Amino acid sequence: MRRIDRPSPNHDTRADAAIDMLVLHYTGMPTAEAALARLTDPAAKVSAHYTIDDDGTVYAHVPEARRAWHAGAAHWAGASDINARSIGIELVNPGHEFGYRPFPEDQIASLTTLCHSILMRHPIPSWRVVGHSDVAPARKEDPGEFFPWARLAKAGIGLWPTAQDSDLGPEALARYGYDPSAPLEKVILAFQRHFRPRGLTGVWDDECAGLLAGLLARLPQSAERA
Ligand SMILES: [Zn+2]
Repeated sequence: MRRIDRPSPNHDTRADAAIDMLVLHYTGMPTAEAALARLTDPAAKVSAHYTIDDDGTVYAHVPEARRAWHAGAAHWAGASDINARSIGIELVNPGHEFGYRPFPEDQIASLTTLCHSILMRHPIPSWRVVGHSDVAPARKEDPGEFFPWARLAKAGIGLWPTAQDSDLGPEALARYGYDPSAPLEKVILAFQRHFRPRGLTGVWDDECAGLLAGLLARLPQSAERA
């Protein structure tokens, strides 16, 4: 895994928040260079801890001990300062606006290695490994439906459900961590992008209910939202 320091000035203190989330993104810009320039531009006021290029090169922008500025207005499991408690990783990909495409093998291999090292350093529960769209469903679609969440979960990164019989409604998405105040159709889409990527309907169905029940069954009791 080739690693290059490409420091960003866009960070500040975590103010003693413990790191217990990992947020994955795509860059959503036409080229890698455009994304790297923006993530390191003081005027843009955005950053991430790392960006991974198509060929697997990892660019390190912000020390993990500092708060990078990647999640924006966001929510997960009752918390809103997601940047303070997370590590953010950007994957170079033009995204839905500029030509969304599957993530190359070399890029996912580097991501897997990087995530393994992060999870060794920080106690991040599997259900707190999320996409940007999971924590900001009203605004964001990244990393999107091509992101190989199931494969990463097999490698020990994130949670993947075994479906159960269930009649849960979409309001129960908040029990997993989704923002209860976000528009429900957008939350359903974010859930589908992550856990049922071949059926992005924005409409709740039995398969979604079964997958959500499978996820909730794996949550520690203390974590589940009322
Ligand atoms: Zn993002």
